[in-house]
Amino acid sequence: YAGNTLASALRAPSAGDDGRLFAEQAGRASMSYGELWQGAEKMAAALVAAGVKPGDRVAVQTEKTLEAVQLYLGAVLAGAAFLPLNTAYVPAEIEYFLTDAEPAVFVCDPGRLEALAPLAQKAGAVALTLDAQGRGSMAEAAAGQAPGFQAAARAAGDLACILYTSGTTGRSKGAMLSHGNLLSNAQTLKDYWRFTAQDRLIHALPIFHAHGLYVALNVTLVAGGSLIFMPGFRAEAVLEAMPRATALMGVPTFYTRLLELPGLAEAAADMRLFVSGSAPMLTDTHEKWRAATGQTILERYGMTETSMNCSNPYEGERRPGTVGFPLPGVEVKITHPETGAELPDGETGTLEVRGPNVFLGYWRMPEKTAEEKRADGFFITGDLASRSPDGYVTIVGRAKDLVITGGYNVYPKEIEGLIDDLPGVKESAVIGLPHPDFGEGVAAVVVPEAAGAVDEAAVKAALADRVAKYKQPKAVFIVDELPRNTMGKVQKNVLRESYKGTFG
Ligand code: ATP
Ligand code: MG
Repeated sequence: YAGNTLASALRAPSAGDDGRLFAEQAGRASMSYGELWQGAEKMAAALVAAGVKPGDRVAVQTEKTLEAVQLYLGAVLAGAAFLPLNTAYVPAEIEYFLTDAEPAVFVCDPGRLEALAPLAQKAGAVALTLDAQGRGSMAEAAAGQAPGFQAAARAAGDLACILYTSGTTGRSKGAMLSHGNLLSNAQTLKDYWRFTAQDRLIHALPIFHAHGLYVALNVTLVAGGSLIFMPGFRAEAVLEAMPRATALMGVPTFYTRLLELPGLAEAAADMRLFVSGSAPMLTDTHEKWRAATGQTILERYGMTETSMNCSNPYEGERRPGTVGFPLPGVEVKITHPETGAELPDGETGTLEVRGPNVFLGYWRMPEKTAEEKRADGFFITGDLASRSPDGYVTIVGRAKDLVITGGYNVYPKEIEGLIDDLPGVKESAVIGLPHPDFGEGVAAVVVPEAAGAVDEAAVKAALADRVAKYKQPKAVFIVDELPRNTMGKVQKNVLRESYKGTFG
């Protein structure tokens, strides 16, 4: 695939060794590297036959299967931008994304074709299904095409993917990533985490999100390793697979669920790498994992717009509560939220990132892109962070979640940490709500370990002598669970909306 930056690099480690295992999956046939790429070429041929040209978008909403992985690589081979959509989206949401993205082709599962094909057509896209046969399928579109697809030439700066952000702070934005962005990230991570052809990764993350697609899948491909491929996350299935695996990449909830199962220590004994990212991991989870398995989870920090920014080191100290160092080639700086001036070590400010990982911009949002990407290449992440004198970066929270009460800054994470440590508390979220006197007032939403295990008075009393008065929650709500999006992230905008009238 010479000339196609990403495809040629992802193919290189397995070229000439087509029999090598790419993926095994429970209850279904394994797939070799040869089969993976033959399938990808067929997908590419089908896309081209359906009218896809280099530079077009290929939008996809399908369950997580190995055929969907082939479709991703097929889109890359055809020179199109792969645009995967969350499987949880309902037709009204899909309509919004199709109208926004204007793809040449939209691929979905057969069961959804009837509902979604009219929406695709309205947006000017050809609708196809991902099943093996049948009318309107990718297979039908590829029938009669000669084997040995000629990959479209694509330079490092050309668009490879549009991935919508998770929508934790508002409406999802389409982040445009180039061949060079994805490739540099995969290669850097491969080296940083010592990934090799001997690695076998448990892949239980969705592939419509940066973590499962750019990080887990691309790193494995660029190293020529293999996957234990799972359609979704089930703690029992992951535990069962561990003795055959070397690595797991997950979000914090993967680890809290695994900690509830018996037999974790034995299952994890020969694993060499546990990675967590996408949301902050509680220090408590880090400690419990260390006690249960003797291993330290390697926490990383990334985002859709940049793929990966920082990670704890593979060798040397992995420091819980931090996200480690910027990856090689990536620069970070911490700046004053208003003036943009760089802040000294230890101070909290806006985290900015520059490097080959930083995206091209937001799809059809030039103003938003200009707001967040400085002329010198630094991207304003929207996260608040600090850096220790020896270089470890700590994520303090999102700038949008910072509470400013009576002119004082309150970082929710500090208060959440104290509340989470109280007896009877499972987890908490601290938010700012409109307050007539202070601008914003601090409120805490608390989930008890069991019904009645903690109440409003106990939380307030416990914090009274631990933090300054302005940081203490003026209201405490006890709830059964926190609202989360499909990546398991707490949606504070939903909480702020629910409780907005609290202080009048
Ligand atoms: P949206 O941008 O649509 O509001 P989102 O920011 O949640 O959604 P993603 O790109 O999936 O969408 O997530 C990136 C964000 O996740 C980061 O900006 C950061 O806030 C958070 N994050 C990722 N890894 C970590 C981590 N290890 N610790 C703390 N926060 C993290
Ligand atoms: Mg974001």
